[in-house]
Amino acid sequence: MFITFEGIEGCGKSTQAKLLYDWFLKKGKEAILTREPGGTPAAEEIRNFILRPRKETFPAFAELCLYMAARGFHVENLIKPALKKGIWVVCDRFVDSTVAYQGYGRGINVELIEKLNEEATGNLKPDLTFLIDVPVEIGFSRIKRRDLDRMEQEEMDFHERVRQGFLRIAEKNSERVIVIDGTKKVDEIFDEILNTLKKRGNI
Ligand code: C5P
Repeated sequence: MFITFEGIEGCGKSTQAKLLYDWFLKKGKEAILTREPGGTPAAEEIRNFILRPRKETFPAFAELCLYMAARGFHVENLIKPALKKGIWVVCDRFVDSTVAYQGYGRGINVELIEKLNEEATGNLKPDLTFLIDVPVEIGFSRIKRRDLDRMEQEEMDFHERVRQGFLRIAEKNSERVIVIDGTKKVDEIFDEILNTLKKRGNI
């Protein structure tokens, strides 16, 4: 079973992904917690390259290609082998982040990104995706406390487009993507996640 967490920065998805991973371990289930971009040595190298601050302009399409390259390594070397062994895979960001950030955020054609996602993953889709939705100002204020410089370089309206993009993705994929109100308390959100998994017969 492959579960992904999505949302804008500061939404709390990484916290929830970790809570779910810990819950699986507590229940004696074999699970891995991984992330994108990254998750394997090569993909983490690409992550560092993508996220390193630079003076040179980073063209949106070049960035897109690097996200796809990292995804290819990750899916091939970690996610697919784990799923084959029946291990639960919990992943912090996946294909929807690329559609939201590089598509709705940076303006690259969404259908093109969907096609590239299919190629990079060999058509692998998450069984279930939790979109932790928060208003941009709330995500922004949470991150600001942690990572002031980086957030200040990025613009609020970019993040608004990304948030709306995620919501649109959820609408279009309502059988897979569950939207959760990320302004609630951490344990309330986690209860909602467990209840969803129980209701769907996954746990
Ligand atoms: O989720 P995490 O905070 O680790 O993401 C790292 C950074 O990469 C964030 O700043 C996020 O906004 C950015 N990102 C992006 N496009 C993606 C995935 C992540 O710009 N497709």
